[in-house]
Amino acid sequence: MKEYDYLIVGAGLFGATFAYLAHKKGLRCLVIEKRSHSGGNLYCRQIEDINVHVYGAHIFHTSDKRVWDFVNSIVPFNRYTNCPVAQAPDGKLYNLPFNMNTFYQMWGVKTPEEAACKLEEQRKDAVNKMKTDGITEPRNLEEQALSLIGRDIYEQLIKGYTEKQWGRPCNELPAFIIRRLPVRLTFDNNYFNDAYQGIPIGGYNKLIDGLLEGSDVMLDVDFFNNREKWMDMADKVVFTGKIDEYYGYRFGKLEYRTVRFETEILDNPNYQGNAVVNYTSANVPFTRIIEHKHFETFGNAVYDNPHTIISREYSTEWKDGMEPFYPVNDARNQAIFLKYKDLAYKEQGIIFGGRLAEYKYYDMAPIVSKVLNLFD
Ligand code: UDP
Repeated sequence: MKEYDYLIVGAGLFGATFAYLAHKKGLRCLVIEKRSHSGGNLYCRQIEDINVHVYGAHIFHTSDKRVWDFVNSIVPFNRYTNCPVAQAPDGKLYNLPFNMNTFYQMWGVKTPEEAACKLEEQRKDAVNKMKTDGITEPRNLEEQALSLIGRDIYEQLIKGYTEKQWGRPCNELPAFIIRRLPVRLTFDNNYFNDAYQGIPIGGYNKLIDGLLEGSDVMLDVDFFNNREKWMDMADKVVFTGKIDEYYGYRFGKLEYRTVRFETEILDNPNYQGNAVVNYTSANVPFTRIIEHKHFETFGNAVYDNPHTIISREYSTEWKDGMEPFYPVNDARNQAIFLKYKDLAYKEQGIIFGGRLAEYKYYDMAPIVSKVLNLFD
């Protein structure tokens, strides 16, 4: 009889949701976490009464009522709706995602019919130009964007941002990245198409603390310093760390993009009037500025606090010792990952789950859904 039913390596959303559901079934869990805090990249630090999203903006969104009800049963969520604004190379501000407001700001068109005409004209120009160059199907992100939305929007709102985010030219990036950006002929600035979205009232730490209640949690513990000892403490293991590290990098190292934040406290109650402002010009080194208070404070209540906190976000290539953020799902990395996945598949008594163990760019809701399904 071991001390625990489950050893959970990593106190992020996957591990914490697993611990919660296991505890509800009467199972004993030990959660070990390398960082000095739980919550993974959802973790927020309170500074000047503001929850700072230390690892970048997290906005919970889903159309799955079961997932929404589950997270709201741990902590109620607020009504935050993501409506980012973009500061373009032409110096103007544009609404995102591409909608009637954006088209009005770009071309002065006022009705869906006028906008559709303008979009058609822009697309035709781009497609005709490609045809004269002998290109019939978009082969990369640049060609995909030009044929979807035309040159004006591509140059003002897509090219610079995308090249900064991925560190590669748009004509060397896969087309699928851009397909997820909606194009709407309505005056709707909501970035997501999902039925539900929001931020936990009081911040994400409340969600994680609620999920971890009832389990033993040890922080500042590196599983790899003594993996036999930790694995010996429980019947089964849930591993949410890097899968290549679990297997001693035997097939090579997986690559990531990482994000660096420059955070500043300002003696100004309202710096940019919005949680997210993207900087789409190649001449600005950061991709966006997050003003954290706007995730949880609405209307003139932002003036109740005389301070604000902003983070400039810089996207860079990941190196050892940095925090891995986005998996680079190109052919080379995917081939390496599949070899590790094959080993993981053959394991008994170990579940590999989450962004790092599955080498997959995950939103939060699909993680919760995945763990709920595991318990079904
Ligand atoms: N994108 C863009 N301009 C913008 C915002 C997004 O071209 O102002 C494109 C870009 O190709 C990017 C993709 O949409 O890689 C996804 O961006 P988003 O900011 O939604 O990704 P996140 O990092 O928030 O998951």
